[in-house]
Amino acid sequence: MPSKSRLGQNFLRDQQAIRRIVAALGDCSDRTVVEIGPGMGAITRELAERAGRVLGLELDHELAARLSSELSRGAAEQGTNPATSNVEIETVDVLSFDFVAASALAGQKLLVAGNLPYYITSPILSKLAESAEALDRAVLMVQSEVADRVTAQPGSRAFGLLSVTVQLHGPVEQLFTLLPSAFTPPPEVHSTVFRWRFAPRFKALEVDREPFLNFLRQVFALKRKTLANNLRAAGLDSAIALQALSNAGIDSKARAESVSIESLAALWKVLKAEGATPANEVAPTIV
Ligand code: SAM
Repeated sequence: MPSKSRLGQNFLRDQQAIRRIVAALGDCSDRTVVEIGPGMGAITRELAERAGRVLGLELDHELAARLSSELSRGAAEQGTNPATSNVEIETVDVLSFDFVAASALAGQKLLVAGNLPYYITSPILSKLAESAEALDRAVLMVQSEVADRVTAQPGSRAFGLLSVTVQLHGPVEQLFTLLPSAFTPPPEVHSTVFRWRFAPRFKALEVDREPFLNFLRQVFALKRKTLANNLRAAGLDSAIALQALSNAGIDSKARAESVSIESLAALWKVLKAEGATPANEVAPTIV
C-alpha cells in the first residue's frame, strides 16, 4: 500500500528505536496505552507485548482495517482467540478523540505513545495538553526542531509559546534523535523522541488555565518585540503595562522569550489583581 504523505505517513523501520520508545513508557503491564497513528503497526506490536491494553487511533481507514486484520490473523496463528486480544484499532481522527472519556472507561489515567503525523503536531500537543487530567505520561516522536521548541528553556532561541504551553502541563525531556533513514519513506527532517509527564502547574502557579493561556498567546504574539510592546498591542495602556512589569520584577525591556514561566505567572497575577488583564481573545493555537 503506497504511503500517503498528506497524512504524514513515514513508517518507522528501526527496531531498536521502536523498543526504546516503548521502554521509555516505563512499566505499562497493567495500563492502557493509546497509540496515535499506529499505521502499519511497527510500534503497536511491541506495545501489545508490554502493555495491558493498546488502543490505536488511526485516521486512514485502509491502514486501520489492514492492521486490525493482520493482528487478528497473528493472534489466530498463535492459537489465541482474536476477540480476547489486548489491541484495538479505532478508525478516528486523534483530534476528535475523547481522551477524558477513554480514561474514565479504563478506570485509570492513560499512557500515550506515537510517531506523530508531523502535519498536525501542534494541534495534537494542544489536544493532549487539554486532556492532561486524563493522562499520565506520553512518549512522542516529532520533528527535531519541534522537540527543541517543546523542551526549550527561557532565553534560548527555541523558547516560545509552544515551550510554555507544553511545560505548563508537565515536565518534558528529550530522549533520542533519529535520522530520516530510520523511516520509510524518509521524511525531510530529523526526528526526536521526547517524554512528557503530565502534571499541570496551574494550581501551584495560582493562575486560571484558560485566561492565563490566552494571556500567553497575547504576550508571545509579536515575536522579537518586548513584553511591554506585546501588552500594548493586546490593548493595555502603556503606563499600566510598565508598572505591572515593574511590580512583577520583570525588566521593562524584556521579551517574553527570555522570561520564566513563574515570572509570566507573576505578571498575569499583578494585572489580574488590578483588573487590567488585556481583553483581546487570541485564537487558541500554539504554533
Ligand atoms: N506508528 C506508525 C509507525 O511508526 O510506523 C506510523 C506513524 S506515521 C508518522 C503517522 C500515522 O498517523 C499514519 O499512519 C497516519 O495515517 C496517521 N494519521 C495521520 N493523521 C491522523 C489523525 N488525524 N488521526 C489519527 N491518525 C492519523
